[in-house]
Amino acid sequence: MKIYNSKTHKKEEFRPIEEGKVRMYVCGPTVYDNIHIGNARTFISFDVIRRWLVAAGYEVTFAQNLTDVDDKIINRANEQGRTAAEVAEEFSRKFIDIMRAANVMDPDVRPRATKEIGPMIGMIKTLIEGGYAYAADNGDVYFSVRSDPSYGEVSGRKIDDLMVGARIAAGEAKRDPLDFALWKAAKPGEPSWPSPWGQGRPGWHTECAAMVHRYLGTPIDIHGGGSDLAFPHHENECAQATCAWHEGFANTWMHTGMLLVDGEKMSKSLGNFFTLEEVLRDHSAAALRLLMLQTHYRSPLDFSWERLEGAENSLARIAGTVKNLKWAVTHAEGAADAELAAGLVSATERASAEFEACMNDDFNTAGALAAYFQLVTEANTYLDQAGSAVDEEAATVCAVSIAGALAILGVKLPEIEEPLPVGLLGVAAGLVGYTGDDVDEAAEKILAARAEARAAKDWARADAIRDQLRDMGLAIEDTAAGSRIKHA
Ligand SMILES: [Zn+2]
Repeated sequence: MKIYNSKTHKKEEFRPIEEGKVRMYVCGPTVYDNIHIGNARTFISFDVIRRWLVAAGYEVTFAQNLTDVDDKIINRANEQGRTAAEVAEEFSRKFIDIMRAANVMDPDVRPRATKEIGPMIGMIKTLIEGGYAYAADNGDVYFSVRSDPSYGEVSGRKIDDLMVGARIAAGEAKRDPLDFALWKAAKPGEPSWPSPWGQGRPGWHTECAAMVHRYLGTPIDIHGGGSDLAFPHHENECAQATCAWHEGFANTWMHTGMLLVDGEKMSKSLGNFFTLEEVLRDHSAAALRLLMLQTHYRSPLDFSWERLEGAENSLARIAGTVKNLKWAVTHAEGAADAELAAGLVSATERASAEFEACMNDDFNTAGALAAYFQLVTEANTYLDQAGSAVDEEAATVCAVSIAGALAILGVKLPEIEEPLPVGLLGVAAGLVGYTGDDVDEAAEKILAARAEARAAKDWARADAIRDQLRDMGLAIEDTAAGSRIKHA
């Protein structure tokens, strides 16, 4: 398996630290608002990466934090006349719920910054003792960037370039404009905790380093996040961890590309800013995932409502093919053509091999999906050519393979086996005099009556049957393997 390491700018053969096991960390949200679809892209991408690692046989331990103390949360709380803890609790819960709605697996560990103050203070003390950090007179503690010779390696920046434009803001007590806060002295009305440097709260970069060390152990195999986090957040996380423990921090750094809406950067002022909750109100998580996975996770992703509709349609088409394959298997009649069946089996094997090769090549979900879109086309051709003489094994293997590939990507096919409504019994009684209580049998009788009417060129009766079904929200689908009644 090859993974692009954004630290080395190269695709590298992935070799976990401990054989068969992967420890990965993905920075979570700051919980002051609903997450937007750009954030969602990052979380869905890493969910798929995690799922593929699991499918490839690795035992994956996945940790993700909730930043539940931060300036943004404090500001929001002040605006709304609530406590920061109330705001953080509300949006932590909403984040967890919306991630589940998007079919993103829960992390194995979900530490919260406010519950990790002790380990953070411990790390800061270690950094001060090692000469990597200093406490200022005002109660702030800063990391001394120049004390870390490897600073800049994660994001590919040079210290000299960073100096351009670096300033010490009013109220900061840094010795060097490059330094960043590990601990911030308490201001009136803000949440704070006791520390050796007085009441205060941790800086944002501090929590991830401490949590990675505590829950996964350093170094870890994969550290991920949105590309906007590479600098300064990931650079600073790495600097703290490597200087505190001298064990390395993360072997592979992975960053997701940005999300555009109709080709433009998403922003509230442009009116093209959408939360995940808004998108999932009227669209399926499966369609959103399918849309996102058709672009490689490192490339810019263009979101549009048209593309989302297109993904819904693709999903329905795939689900329809899987359903038709399964239905054809249960209604197979006559001797199957061995050559056609062998063709479908080899098409399935080709798609499966291509899917695996793409996923092993830096999680190329776009290529992996393309292989299965191709298979869906081939399966439809097979069903047309085979008619009712479907090879049960070949059709089953193909259906299972399509559904299985999508399941690995966390794309749930729409419910396709919805039972026919009981009301169909009444229609069958009126149309064909069927008085039993088996809905499927009633459907068979209605279809037989329609076939008879058509054979007799009694179009009025055939149309009447169609219209009665339509009034119930049902339709007749004629496939090569025969006709059936389905939800319209
Ligand atoms: Zn982080």
